[in-house]
Amino acid sequence: MIEFAARFNSDKKCLEYLAYIKWSAGFKCKKCGHTGAQTRRNYSRTCNKCSHTESATANTLFHKVKFGIQKAFFICFEMSTTTKSLSANYVAERFGVTEKTARLFMHKVREAMKSSETMPMDGVVHIDEFVIGGKEDGKPGRSYDTSKKKVVCAVELTDDGKVKRMYAMKIDNYSSKELRKLFDAHISPDADVTTDKWRGYLPLMKEFNITQDESNGGLNFKALHTMIHQVKSWIRTTYSWVSEFHTDRYLNEFCYRLNRSQAKSGIFNNLIYRMVDADKKYQSEIICN
Ligand SMILES: [Zn+2]
Repeated sequence: MIEFAARFNSDKKCLEYLAYIKWSAGFKCKKCGHTGAQTRRNYSRTCNKCSHTESATANTLFHKVKFGIQKAFFICFEMSTTTKSLSANYVAERFGVTEKTARLFMHKVREAMKSSETMPMDGVVHIDEFVIGGKEDGKPGRSYDTSKKKVVCAVELTDDGKVKRMYAMKIDNYSSKELRKLFDAHISPDADVTTDKWRGYLPLMKEFNITQDESNGGLNFKALHTMIHQVKSWIRTTYSWVSEFHTDRYLNEFCYRLNRSQAKSGIFNNLIYRMVDADKKYQSEIICN
């Protein structure tokens, strides 16, 4: 934190860093395609041919951030490195912005945390479903309570049974068609997958290497169930209510941090690169209800 705060001690330092990332492969004018440009004092670039000026934040998720780029960097830092829950309410108070502003920006950060889906799990993988929200009944297994959001979740295990990576996504029901979404996005056909005896996985056996095992109340999927417990309690303590629309975003945030917990020193830089690479999101796309 001290190192971070010293490095990004002004809006200028943050803009300089954004410009460095954004144009690391060279400048190309968005209007005319020309590659020659002048650098302005605020690190914007002005095209030598058509004079179009592009700011360091334009076309990134920092576009038009209302409360200053430095605060935005600090929120990114907290969201990428926290080990605790970080609600919009907490961020609003801590950084002196409204809760609505905090919530909107935090959703943009979660967009950047979304998996690129380019590194499918190919080792030992355990998969199960769970529910979040609604009234907790404590019973294991598939819940059909419509007030709850259904989630399918995969963990990849190390040789000694520890969690290496995790992915989770919201599903509408427990059918093969819905379960397949997780497989298509995150599971390699080479992965050695184990699920419980749910028949929804049977049709996927043609394309994926799936073994089914008794759940035994979760005992046969211990690491997976520990993670499920953690993500559920994280969501419960941070967000009293998770809308249908935002469920995947919270899951992305949780998995993003978890999957980089061994590479903590690089996580902030990774997040800023993702914020710069992502197309700018307008408010209407971010907040739905
Ligand atoms: Zn131009």
